[in-house]
Amino acid sequence: MTEKLYERNSYCHTFTARVEACEPHGDGYGVRLDRTAFFPEGGGQAADPGVLGGIPVTDVQILDGVVWHYLPKPLPVGQIVEGAIDWETRFSRMQHHTAEHIVCGIAHRWHGLENVGFHLGSEDVTLDLSGELTREQLDAIEEEANRVVFANRAVTATVPAADELESIPFRSKEGLTGPVRLITVEGVDCCACCAPHVGRTGEIGLIKLLDFIRYKGGVRIHLLAGAAALADYRLRYAQSAEISAKLSVKQFDLTAAVDRLLAERDGLKQALREANRHLADALVAAVEPTDRPVVLVGRDWDTDTLRRMVNGLSARCSGLCAAYSGSDGLYQYVLGGTGDLKAVTGQMNTALSGRGGGDHRQTQGRVQATETQIRDFWRELGAAE
Ligand SMILES: [Zn+2]
Repeated sequence: MTEKLYERNSYCHTFTARVEACEPHGDGYGVRLDRTAFFPEGGGQAADPGVLGGIPVTDVQILDGVVWHYLPKPLPVGQIVEGAIDWETRFSRMQHHTAEHIVCGIAHRWHGLENVGFHLGSEDVTLDLSGELTREQLDAIEEEANRVVFANRAVTATVPAADELESIPFRSKEGLTGPVRLITVEGVDCCACCAPHVGRTGEIGLIKLLDFIRYKGGVRIHLLAGAAALADYRLRYAQSAEISAKLSVKQFDLTAAVDRLLAERDGLKQALREANRHLADALVAAVEPTDRPVVLVGRDWDTDTLRRMVNGLSARCSGLCAAYSGSDGLYQYVLGGTGDLKAVTGQMNTALSGRGGGDHRQTQGRVQATETQIRDFWRELGAAE
C-alpha cells in the first residue's frame, strides 16, 4: 500500500519518495512509490497533474491501495525522487470539492436529496442530485452555501473506528469499502470522501451555481468556486460591458434592450416577408400567358410564397410551372401546373442533385444547383425565356 500524503495533509504539494517499482505501461511506464502527494483519479475527480523526478505525470490511478503514477519515461527503482503536484490545479479542485460537500449537505438537510454524481475535471464541474429543484431553491442553497464560506468553518478529515462510526450520522456515496474517511464541515455536513479538501471554508472564496438541467429524475448542476468563479465573473462582466457599449444601454438594462431588438427584428422580418410576397405577385403578374413551362428563380422566398407563386402561375399558364428560391447552389423548389409533374420532378432531382416529391398537383424539395443549371434544365424542356 502506498502512504497517501494527500489524505493526511491536502496542502502537501512537494515531497520526496522512494521509487519501489517501475514497469512498462502502454507507451510509457507505471511508477510505484513508498509515498505520494498525487491524488489518483477517483470519486468523480481527475488525477493530479504534476512532475515526478522531473518527468511530467500523465495519469495517476489507484489499484488495491497502491497508487500508480504514469510517466512517459522510466525512473530507476530504489532512487529517491522529488515530486511536485500542480498546486494551482489541485487547490482549485480542493475549493470545488469542498464547495460540493457544502452544497450537497444543504440540499440533503433542506430537501432530503442525495448526491448521486460528481465530475471534477479540468474544464467543467458538475454535481447530480437525486431530486428536482427550482432555480429559486438553488438560489437559496447558493446563498446559504456562501454564508458557510463567509463563516470560515473548519473542514476536518477523520477515520473513525468501526464501532464509533455507527453512532455518527454521515452522508455516504455508493460503493464505499474499507475504513471510512469522514469529511466534516463544522456544523454543516459530514460525508464519507477520500479526496483532498480545504482546511477552512473561507478558502473557497465564492460558490456559484450556474445553469442546471433535469437529469435522471433529479438535477445536474454546474458549479464554480474560488478563482474559477472569479475568472467566470470577469469573462461575463467583460461580455456584458461590451454588449452594453454596443447597444448604448446600462448593463442592468440589457435584457429589456435585447427584447426590444428582437421585437424590432421580428417586425422587420414580417415586413420583408410581405415585401417579398408583393415582389413575387408582381413577377407572376408580369409573366405572359403561355402553354410552355414557366420558371421563376429568386431568393428569400419561403415555401408558402413559392407555393403561392406556382398557384398564380398555373392560373395564367397552361403548362408546367416552377418557382425556386435560394443562393450559393442550394435552392428550394415548388413545381405545379399541368404536365407529368412526377416524371419531371424525378428527372430534375436526378439532373440537379435534388430531393423531394409530392402529389400530382404540386411537388416540393431542394436542389443543389446554380441558377444557370436550373434555367438550362428548363430550357431543355422548352420553357419560355
Ligand atoms: Zn470530498
